[in-house]
Amino acid sequence: MLEVSADPYPPMADYTVWLSDVRRADMTPDELEERHRRDRETYRRMRERMAADPEYREARLAVSRGTTRRWKARNGDRLDVKLLRLNRDRTRWASEASELKARSRELYVGERAVRIRAANREWYSRNQESRREYRKAYRLEHGEEIRAKDRERQRRKYAEDPRKVLDYYQAWRKRNLLRARGYVRISANKRRAAGADTHFTLGEWLALLAQYDERCGYCGARGRIEADHRVPLCRGGTNSIDNILPACIHCNRRKHRKTEAEFRALLVEESARARATGSGTTVGPAGSASAG
Ligand SMILES: [Zn+2]
Repeated sequence: MLEVSADPYPPMADYTVWLSDVRRADMTPDELEERHRRDRETYRRMRERMAADPEYREARLAVSRGTTRRWKARNGDRLDVKLLRLNRDRTRWASEASELKARSRELYVGERAVRIRAANREWYSRNQESRREYRKAYRLEHGEEIRAKDRERQRRKYAEDPRKVLDYYQAWRKRNLLRARGYVRISANKRRAAGADTHFTLGEWLALLAQYDERCGYCGARGRIEADHRVPLCRGGTNSIDNILPACIHCNRRKHRKTEAEFRALLVEESARARATGSGTTVGPAGSASAG
């Protein structure tokens, strides 16, 4: 017969035996419920003692680590076990997300936070390559979702402090002129009419720019180059790259709602007129033939 000792905690070895003596799968629901109640009670007492007694805490942790290590050696590579745990974690997260988050926020302080951050940094630097792959795949699969969230966040930021957003945008533009010029400002209506999914990519735009030696496709000028729609959106053109031509700001403004053919005809007509009047001035970037 076991004697009830004055010490409320059974010796360490008892826990390990006690935890694995009967197969839980063989228990009736009532027995299982009773076992769970006892487990919770035991764990509560263990936690209390761990908080009060550092030596006990270390011994307890050593036992836990050993159990985890042995379990991993047995089951670590089993896909079915991994999936089971993954699904369980997801279900739990779906129903208790806010409590779980609150709890980890509570624990994420001081010395512990520093340790966690260091461990995370170390883990990410070891897994950089796979993380990059994962992010890429995730973005591909959830692109539309992510962009919608980004748009929503941008709107909120702008509503809070328009000046700040505009200043940031201006600074970004200065640093990324070539990229910035790839973005055509057109109203959401027009873009929708043209089909947002046909919008040319930054890569296509940069390739087109290179093809035109970063010059205006109409007059050959360098400097500020924009993306012009050969057939304007308002006249049924699309945003796909084959409807885009690099144009200097002057040509782009002058072309306005004309199609490429109409605008080129105008340029030819203008230069012919200029030759006829003997001014010798071709249509320059400013588009004004000085009478000279
Ligand atoms: Zn031009």
